[in-house]
Amino acid sequence: MAPINENFGKLPGSYLFSTVAQKVAAYRAAHPEAKIIRLGIGDVTQPLAPAVIRALHGAVDEMGRAESFRGYAPDKGYDFLREAIAKADYAARGCDISADEIFVSDGAKSDSADIQELFGPDAVIAVSDPVYPVYVDSNALAGRCGTYDPAAGKWDRVIYMPCTAENGFAPDLPGDGADMIYLCSPNNPTGMAMTKDQLQRFVDYANRTGAVILFDAAYEAYIQDENIPHSIYECEGAKTCAIELRSFSKNAGFTGLRLGCAVVPKDLFRGGASLHAMWARRHGTKFNGAPYIVQRAGEAVYSAEGQAQMKEQIGVYRRNAKVILDVLTAAGYTVYGGVNSPYVWLRTPENMTSWAFFDWLLEEKNIVGTPGSGFGPCGEGYFRLTAFGTYEDSAEAMARLAQ
Ligand code: PLP
Repeated sequence: MAPINENFGKLPGSYLFSTVAQKVAAYRAAHPEAKIIRLGIGDVTQPLAPAVIRALHGAVDEMGRAESFRGYAPDKGYDFLREAIAKADYAARGCDISADEIFVSDGAKSDSADIQELFGPDAVIAVSDPVYPVYVDSNALAGRCGTYDPAAGKWDRVIYMPCTAENGFAPDLPGDGADMIYLCSPNNPTGMAMTKDQLQRFVDYANRTGAVILFDAAYEAYIQDENIPHSIYECEGAKTCAIELRSFSKNAGFTGLRLGCAVVPKDLFRGGASLHAMWARRHGTKFNGAPYIVQRAGEAVYSAEGQAQMKEQIGVYRRNAKVILDVLTAAGYTVYGGVNSPYVWLRTPENMTSWAFFDWLLEEKNIVGTPGSGFGPCGEGYFRLTAFGTYEDSAEAMARLAQ
């Protein structure tokens, strides 16, 4: 009998969003007339920008002609895309990242789940609490998290960095023993972003201790404040201790197209090994490249026309976040995030648990959000709303909530 990976059996319950979906499906079956507004899952709703569509059409036509047809993409991605990313996302911000340090991928979810393969089985992970569940679950499947305690909602080999109202939802340093530190800023789920000083403290810590920071920048396009870095490489010394993950999903609406990238600097070594060389080997072994047409679409995002259209799209989601923030604040809710992020993180009223508030919101207001406790114990008593719906839906949901 083939032995199975028993770590699957150690994972707690079902994935957060499956539970939400099941509850919504059950409610919908019982109340088919209800007009449910979804402000839960973090998926975009606006169509792809015209510059992206034109690039896709052009690339599809190229694929249909023998002389311009392309097969497998280069392992690390096409140079045209890697150079566009290096120029716009790094050089323009004064970050010394070359195109050759960029690995094009199919998105930040796979990269954030796979990046742990660079580390040994005994490496200790440190995560914010609450946290995007993929970081912990991918390490748990690799057998790195120990045992899950359902009562505490924690694994016994994971260092949790609480993010609470008291510390402004910015994690404190993890103390001794952290090897892989996952940071996400602007943060999912709290919608709060780390300042440059806060991030610099993590970079200094990692360089001092030999830890590696895995920095998820999936929401950087939503940053409005000047003192919030868009990339960890804006911090001094980050190239010797940090890997950055980027996504086209939320900055360009590519959730259905799939495109992202990981930056693994050539200066990053641990145990005498180059993490860049290891990731190149891993990428070549396990990944056959993002589709040519999608990489051309990604390139179009960086054209002048593309950039203007992205700004407009993000502006729509920002307007939604503002109406959610404004109405909730006026209605007396305690709210966080929503300024440098499409996520609004609210305190549940009257000390309701996150799931009790979820049920109340679904049943009484026909609004779907995401219970904060699904992201970790410190998320209990909080609730996440997203700005990715239409303006009409966001405003209507808030009108219902304000009543
Ligand atoms: N990282 C964070 C923090 C996210 O919230 C998400 C999606 O919700 C992802 C990564 C996934 O990004 P992608 O669509 O590029 O896989």
